[in-house]
Amino acid sequence: MLVVMKHNASAEAIEAVVDAIQDMGYGARPIPGGQRTAVGLIGNDGRVDTARLEGMEGVLECIAVTQPYKQVSREWREEDTLIRLDNGTVIGGSEVVLMAGPCAVESEDQIMTSARLLRAAGATVLRGGAFKPRTSPYSFQGLGEEGLRLLAQAREATGLAIVTEAVDPAGVDLVAEYADIIQIGARNMQNYPLLRRAGQSGKPVLLKRGMSATINEFLLAAEYLLAEGNDEVILCERGVRSFDTHTRNLLDLTAIPVVKGLSHLPIVADPSHGTGLRSKVVPMGRAAVAAGADGLIVEVHPDPTRALSDGAQSLYPAQFEEMVGQIDVIARAIGRQLVTPLDAVPA
Ligand code: PEP
Ligand code: MN
Repeated sequence: MLVVMKHNASAEAIEAVVDAIQDMGYGARPIPGGQRTAVGLIGNDGRVDTARLEGMEGVLECIAVTQPYKQVSREWREEDTLIRLDNGTVIGGSEVVLMAGPCAVESEDQIMTSARLLRAAGATVLRGGAFKPRTSPYSFQGLGEEGLRLLAQAREATGLAIVTEAVDPAGVDLVAEYADIIQIGARNMQNYPLLRRAGQSGKPVLLKRGMSATINEFLLAAEYLLAEGNDEVILCERGVRSFDTHTRNLLDLTAIPVVKGLSHLPIVADPSHGTGLRSKVVPMGRAAVAAGADGLIVEVHPDPTRALSDGAQSLYPAQFEEMVGQIDVIARAIGRQLVTPLDAVPA
């Protein structure tokens, strides 16, 4: 439930509502906003007796949050959530953010080359797995902590922020030491101990949609992160299983406007895993931006033919550059713009 305060409610009135909610045995989360402050009530299983709260000074109204995912919902927070990274990138605002890089960190040369050319092409976030959740136990599993060190080195050299995956609860703290954004992969979307740990990490989390997760399940998985006190969550549509075998997955573009209606959290699209085919990544990346995605996360490799994972869906750098030019036009057509490239930011 949400206690909406009048726009001129004093700090003392808000504090008194927080105290009253706690006195009733629930948790209270103040949610400051541009228009009004609200106080969210958590920990209730069913209806709450609102009479006591409605009579308090500064209270405008009490609204029931009908969605099962409470803090993730637009009922809880009307305004879009903005996530600000240390390098100036803002996710969830009018800018469309480009996250790009290889599927996995493979070597110093590979990640440094990738970082330099992606920065020059306009990306502001570098992706790359150090811990890889591979379908086969015999496939390359990533460089582990050495991979994280190489990502940090790439950030140092280029200013790109880092997004990289944590695959188990015990690994979250290590990834959080290096990453600007912790990725939770599709296979782990409902790994609740992992979600709870990531929710406690103090770092933004990029949560990928499970390959057969409904939108409700996806948003409830995000709720685990917010329930731990972390509201810096970026959702990621990365394709779902379908009956058709022509593509690896079916990129569910409709999920983008649907999620935007249901939640205040930013949502980005991953056309690489969403299609599995290099030749389909650029058209679906363009389409995702047209559908309202707050950014893209795209696999790009300096030499995809030699990639140790996901080479078949990794773009050549020149393809990425071409896509950025096209997305620039699409973003402006819908009242947005590409994120300011780091090259345009004075050092
Ligand atoms: C990845 O980003 O390389 C990855 C493994 O993605 P997903 O979890 O969406 O399969
Ligand atoms: Mn991959």
